[in-house]
Parts: sequence; structure tokens; C-alpha cells
Amino acid sequence: MSADTTTAQEALTFADLGLSPKVLSAVTDAGYTKPTPIQAGAIPHSLQGKDVLGIAQTGTGKTAAFVLPMITRLEKGRARARMPRTLILEPTRELAAQVEENFVKYGKNNRLTVALLIGGVSFDEQEKKLERGADVLIATPGRLLDHFERGKLLLTGVEILVIDEADRMLDMGFIPDIERICKLIPFTRQTLFFSATMPPEITKLTEQFLHAPARIEVARAATTNSSITQRLVKSGSKPWDKRETLRNLIRSEGDALKNAIIFCNRKIEVSDLFKSLQKHEFDVGALHGDMDQRARMAMLDNFRSGRLKLLVASDVAARGLDIPDVSHVFNFDVPIHAEDYVHRIGRTGRAGRSGKSFTVVTRGDTKHLDAIEKLTGQTIEWHDGDLSTLAPVTEEDDAPRRGRGAPKRVRGKADGERKRDHKRGRKEEVVEAKPADVQEFRAEVADIAEERRTRKDAIKSDNASRGARPGNASNQSRRDDRRPNRSNDDLNDGTVGFGDDMPAFMKIEVKV
Ligand code: AMP
Repeated sequence: MSADTTTAQEALTFADLGLSPKVLSAVTDAGYTKPTPIQAGAIPHSLQGKDVLGIAQTGTGKTAAFVLPMITRLEKGRARARMPRTLILEPTRELAAQVEENFVKYGKNNRLTVALLIGGVSFDEQEKKLERGADVLIATPGRLLDHFERGKLLLTGVEILVIDEADRMLDMGFIPDIERICKLIPFTRQTLFFSATMPPEITKLTEQFLHAPARIEVARAATTNSSITQRLVKSGSKPWDKRETLRNLIRSEGDALKNAIIFCNRKIEVSDLFKSLQKHEFDVGALHGDMDQRARMAMLDNFRSGRLKLLVASDVAARGLDIPDVSHVFNFDVPIHAEDYVHRIGRTGRAGRSGKSFTVVTRGDTKHLDAIEKLTGQTIEWHDGDLSTLAPVTEEDDAPRRGRGAPKRVRGKADGERKRDHKRGRKEEVVEAKPADVQEFRAEVADIAEERRTRKDAIKSDNASRGARPGNASNQSRRDDRRPNRSNDDLNDGTVGFGDDMPAFMKIEVKV
């Protein structure tokens, strides 16, 4: 895309995009003054009935990029029983529910019937809605196919298909379901396809199911907001060491910590950490895929309304959720994908407020940490160089899991905590640490610094030899990853990007 095209798109207003007056009025009521790049790029094409390939992550305004033109196009025509006119596929129930909220917000001047087909909710209610006829069907793939197989749904009337968060669908094993669904919908439909990244499996899917799509690409966020104070915190690598480190951090933040999201890499860690924090009497909730829909919604509501202070979540469970500004983000695990770091900490420091993020780092994390620093072009400071404050004290909650080969309880700085446990009348076994245990731990955390220094030197000399600044190499390779088909003219329709700047709309306070 030429610089002229980009500038022209930047100057666009919502009124220039071709949306209906009813939709424009709802957008004005939502308080948006300017379309985001993905909206400016995708809306005109989708209003013309073209297929769209939107490469954009959540937070870029991509939901409105497909919801607004859909509502405009649905103003003509009516829904028939069991034959939805449009279908939106989402990987998780929360995302599906969030898209439904978007229809309520942007469709307030339109009389649309929206049906949500997600797991964890009774079939009966959903069937009744289908029976009445739905203009918009928002579904997770599994539940959609369940309804289809029960004979309660016909997909032959679908005029517009949206596949959202395609790469997340891939991670969650939904691609065979998506392929099946695509084959059940008329070939003449319009398809709007969104993915944050374009791994080969997703590219294959787009080649199979999109027809001459307009490609709109929004660069991934590679910068972190300067109003977020970011710190790294050294920890021993055992789960109980990390939990102790986290508890110390939470306590040391005192009243400055209004509310926090604690990110883990896997759902098993979410569950373990949640139970542990609960045991230690923190005001905590968790979001993970195994909870039923009602429990997850209730948990989110409690957190949004301030009734819960801490929320433990995985990237998958938290992805795309419109969670309001939080004072703190803790990375219990260093994220495996560097971009996830930017998204995680972007939950704080919104709307010009200050925020804090702490990342618990163990010896095995240096590779991922380097990738984060390379992506953001920043060196993240250590919170407290004094390792003595982070002596590994294992806790009572780990005791039931101890078997042979399990770690010994080490007497450290958290004596006060153990006293409190005594007061609560809990039985406690304390095994005095052998000097060798402590030494081993200290050697381990000291090695983190050394290993990182070595890696950094290697990266520096690599960059120097390429004449690149630290962020460039990774930016380039990420872009290449997402453009395997750059030679394909069909896919080269329009590319817009945020460059290195945090887009202003991302700093706008989120209303809930
Ligand atoms: P999404 O990427 O769809 O999850 O949107 C992220 C957030 O941006 C949501 O809270 C939207 O309400 C908000 N948003 C969407 N479009 C705009 C816009 N044009 N201006 C300001 N905020 C927007």
C-alpha cells in the first residue's frame, strides 16, 4: 500500500465509509470519532460484498470492522425460521458473548434478531431462538455443529460468514470443524476472515475458502505504553518458589494495587495458582476454559465491578476480553510468544493512567525474555537486585503434593506468613534448609543474569553486523511470517499499520 493510500485512509471519517445512517448514529453514540485502521480498510470492501482477509488482533477495533457493515447490509431482507442470514464463528464463549454485546451497542437502531450458540448453556433456549429466525448467529464451532446435527439449523441461507480469531481456532483444534462448516454454507456467500497471525494452516484455509479477498493488515503491537512501569523479578523455577515470589510482590505493592490480572501460560497453572492464592486468603478469581459459561461470566462480572481484586487467567481465556483498566499485571510465567507480553501488560496503564507490570523470571525463561526485549526494543529493569528477599520458602499448600524427590521446605524470609498460618491452626511441617539448598538456589538465580548478558551480547553483535536497531530484525521476520503470499495480487489489496506508535484509541478508557 502506498503512503498516499495510508494518508487517505487516516483522514477517513465513519461517514465516508458507506455505513447506513442508523449505524452511523449508533457509532456516534458509542463515542467513536474516527475509524481505526482495520475499520477504515475493511468496512468499504465488506459493504461492497467482497471477501475480506483482516490480519489484526483484538484491541484494534476489528469487531466493529465486521459488525458495522454486517448491520448495514442486514437492513435489507428478513430472517426465516431455522435459516440464519449471517454466521459469526468465535473460538471461545466469552468472545462470542462479547460480539453479541457489540450487536446490541451498534444495532440499537436496528431491529435485529441475534442468537448466541455457545456451550455451557441449554440447547432448548437456543433452539427457540433459531426457530424464530435469526438475522445473526454467533457461535462456537462445536455447539454450532451440535445444533446442525440435531437438525435444528439450516446453513443454506447464510449470506455472510465471519471467521474470527482464526489462529486461535487453530490453537484450539477447531480447523476441521471450520472446514466442515464452510462446506455447509453456500459458495456464493461473502466471507470475512480475521486472524492475528498467518501460520501456514491458516493461509491454506484462506486459499481454500476466500475468493479474491481484500487483504487488510494491521501491524502487531510491538510497543509498550510508556505509562506502564515494567519490572522483572527473579525467582527459583519451582512452582512453589514462583508462587512465593508472587505473593511477596502482591503484598509489597500494598494499597497501590487496586486490582490485577495474573497471567499464566497454561490452564493447569491457572488452576493451581488460583487454588494456592485462595488458600492464602487472597481475594482471587480465575478464568480458564474448563469453567462453565455461567461461572466464567460471573467471575468476569465480579472482577469488572471491583468485587474481586485478583484474576488469574491464561492468554486463551483472557484473549479479546474487554476488561477495564487494571492497576497491575503480573506475569506468573514469561509468555512464550513475545507479542503476548505486549497484550498482557497492555491491560494496565490505559487512558493515560499509570500502571505496573511484574514478570516472574526463572532461569529457563531467558530465551523468551530476550524475544520480548527484542520485540519491544526495550530492556526491562529488574525489580529488586537483592536476591535475599526472594529466598525460596515453600508453603503448606504444596505439602500434599510432596512425595519422593519433592523439594524440601526451606526456611526463609516468610516467617511472618508461617506464623499467620499457625494462628489459623494449620498443621505445618517446616524442614530446615540445608545450606546447600540455599546455595543451589542462589546460584540458579544468579545464572539468569549471566545467561542473559551473554545472549544480549550475541544479539548486539548480530544486529551490528546487519546494521539494524534491536527491534528491526524481529519486526521484519514477523512481517514475513504473516505475508507468505505477498506475490499473490489477490491478497495485496490494502495494508495499513500502526508503525511503532501505540494507537490513540487503545488508550481510550474502556466502558463496561
Ligand atoms: P476490538 O479490537 O474489537 O476488541 O475492540 C477493542 C476496543 O476498541 C473495544 O473496547 C471497542 O469498543 C473499541 N473501539 C472500537 N472501534 C473504535 C473506534 N473507532 N474508536 C475508539 N474505540 C474503538
